[in-house]
Amino acid sequence: MSRIGVFVCHCGENISRTVDVERVAAEAARLPGVAYATDYKYMCSDPGQNLLKNAVTEHRLDGIVVAACSPRMHEKTFRNAAKSAGLNPFLCEMANIREHCSWVHEDRDEATAKASDIVAMMVARVKKDKRLVPITVPVTKRSLVIGGGIAGIQAALDIADAGHQVVLVEREPSIGGHMAQLSETFPTLDCSQCIMTPKMVDVANHPNITLHTYSEIEAVDGYIGNFQITVRKKARSVIEEKCTGCGVCSAKCPQKKIPNTFDKNLGTRPAIYVPFPQAVPNTPVIDRANCTWFKTGKCGVCQKVCGPGAINYEQEDQLIVEPVGAIVVATGFELYSITEKPKGSPIKGYGEFGHGTIPDVIDGLTFERLASASGPTGGKILRPSDGKEPKQVVFVQCVGSRAREKGISYCSKICCMYTAKHTMLYKHKIHDGQAYVFFMDARTPGKSYDEFWRRAVEEEEAVYIRGMVSRLYQKGDKVVVMGSDISVGVQVEIEADLVVLATAVQPRAGADTLAQKLGISYDSYHFYSEAHAKLKPVECATAGIYLAGACQGPKDIPDTVSQASAAAAKVMTLFAKDELEREPIVAKVNEKNCVACLYCKKVCPYGAVEEKEIRDRQGNLIRVVAYVNPGVCGGCGTCQASCPSKSVELDGYTDEQIMAMIEAL
Ligand SMILES: Cc1cc2nc3c(=O)[nH]c(=O)nc-3n(C[C@H](O)[C@H](O)[C@H](O)COP(=O)(O)OP(=O)(O)OC[C@H]3O[C@@H](n4cnc5c(N)ncnc54)[C@H](O)[C@@H]3O)c2cc1C
Ligand code: SF4
Ligand code: SF4
Repeated sequence: MSRIGVFVCHCGENISRTVDVERVAAEAARLPGVAYATDYKYMCSDPGQNLLKNAVTEHRLDGIVVAACSPRMHEKTFRNAAKSAGLNPFLCEMANIREHCSWVHEDRDEATAKASDIVAMMVARVKKDKRLVPITVPVTKRSLVIGGGIAGIQAALDIADAGHQVVLVEREPSIGGHMAQLSETFPTLDCSQCIMTPKMVDVANHPNITLHTYSEIEAVDGYIGNFQITVRKKARSVIEEKCTGCGVCSAKCPQKKIPNTFDKNLGTRPAIYVPFPQAVPNTPVIDRANCTWFKTGKCGVCQKVCGPGAINYEQEDQLIVEPVGAIVVATGFELYSITEKPKGSPIKGYGEFGHGTIPDVIDGLTFERLASASGPTGGKILRPSDGKEPKQVVFVQCVGSRAREKGISYCSKICCMYTAKHTMLYKHKIHDGQAYVFFMDARTPGKSYDEFWRRAVEEEEAVYIRGMVSRLYQKGDKVVVMGSDISVGVQVEIEADLVVLATAVQPRAGADTLAQKLGISYDSYHFYSEAHAKLKPVECATAGIYLAGACQGPKDIPDTVSQASAAAAKVMTLFAKDELEREPIVAKVNEKNCVACLYCKKVCPYGAVEEKEIRDRQGNLIRVVAYVNPGVCGGCGTCQASCPSKSVELDGYTDEQIMAMIEAL
């Protein structure tokens, strides 16, 4: 290849501020094999792309280097431009002189010299590029949704309504997530269950949705359009097809004093239970750790009373394999624990707030259960310690959030709003009560949000104190709250009947393990990472996997539902095609040299390497070699780096190309 075109982009001033782009283009023009080199303000713009296309024809270019930003931004743009000018798109490469150069250097001469080196390396690589043809793979038009909170429910319903099959996998015995635990919801104060339950029922009845509750993802294989998911359906000890949901088993179960985690341990439940009255499915599950039968081999009451014979103590976990083409991850959040310092976590606990030893210090979700008509107190706000009505309640915002010294620097986004809601719900139920709120500042962007917050302060008479709480301690039947009011510079002490801590929103425990199974990335807190913060907020960097809801970062219900619908739209876009084109940057094995040590098989993170038998005409096995399935290969190059006999190479990144790049320096 000897007629290469080099196009050096200014990226506005992003590159040209630090790099002398004219000099880089002039030096590129002198490189052997470069037939044309120029610079342009915005290569990605329409005129920039036209410049590239015209140059291909005018200068009969047979290879292109665009020296600009990261290939993640615009590789596709320039390859498409090259293609429309009649060039094989894989003969067009990007030299990243923005992220790798202008953004990280200050000295103009040094940055310019480095940019020229990067360009020279890419020219050396393009010279040895081959014409490649995209790989086409069929698309399985079924999708998996992981997590049955409002995010997963919305995504599943949208995809199913569009006529595609959905497999919804929920870890708990019922779908619903946190929204099922809420009482009323900001900013309209409508009952959470009333707006949630119809959607849960729609999921259960939808002909296109297969629901696996009490289930988790065991393994994920495959790639966009062709995933194979193994679901572990945990043993409920109740046969779903036989159970009529009559509830006799729960009523007769003698083990009745098990803390009810759905009610944040405020009430109790039996060993065979449905988590809440509106649960979907309305099929009980036996909590084996607390069931007398499983502990002692005696009891068996539920089996005796169950009319349809649905109880099965011998039931075992089932592994179900589901082929799907796309995955929506919607595993939600959990609240920062105030009861203990999270084990093995860099996050420090709140010892000064009692570490959960003061019974009348609760978190926001516990308050939701107290305020909920379906909660353990029937909607009456009563203190956990003695069941009395609290006349003074102190709410503390930002517990864990925005506290770098405690380990979390982000804002949990929903606490300002739900604390304002809590003060209103409290005032609506206890008219002569007084709510105090310790806050740093009120963050209320969102439609009708600021108006809602002002209502709490101006009409519902919540007293907002700007400052943080330094200590809580029990004094008789009161909880003393010590804090500061920084707006007037005084120390404040309130004897409260109840304290509600707005604790930080965190990713679910085990979010990292699931991410590793899915091959998606996560941030330092374990929230899942989107492919691009602004332009790809729903897609993961791993093709075919999309994010919805609070698993990506703290979110309220409107934002969660919007993102879930956006994820569903992405899935439907994918399913609009029968076949997908994949980049042909995949590894290939040189069968002659392969010694079948299969190191490549061990190290391949995509599971793309298989064993291939080579037989003679009579069908006798001659030898075994490694084979890379191009449909599965992710193009990471790990096999190439590990092969001791240098028998496996990645198209576009061959040893010859890498050596040529090094020699160009
Ligand atoms: C105290 C409090 C009050 C709130 N009040 C309001 C309000 O008034 N208005 C408002 O707009 N928002 C409110 N919110 C926010 C609201 O709860 C969230 O926006 C919403 O629940 C996010 O939904 P989600 O589906 O993303 O997550 P979740 O509700 O957490 O659901 C996630 C689901 O995924 C399941 N799951 C987790 N891991 C796995 C796995 N590995 N495999 C399978 N399933 C899994 C979980 O069991 C769960 O069912 C409040 C939040 C709190 C804490
Ligand atoms: S008694 Fe049997 S049918 Fe009734 S809810 Fe229990 S398991 Fe289901
Ligand atoms: S590592 Fe190389 S030699 Fe070993 S099996 Fe794979 S391709 Fe063959």
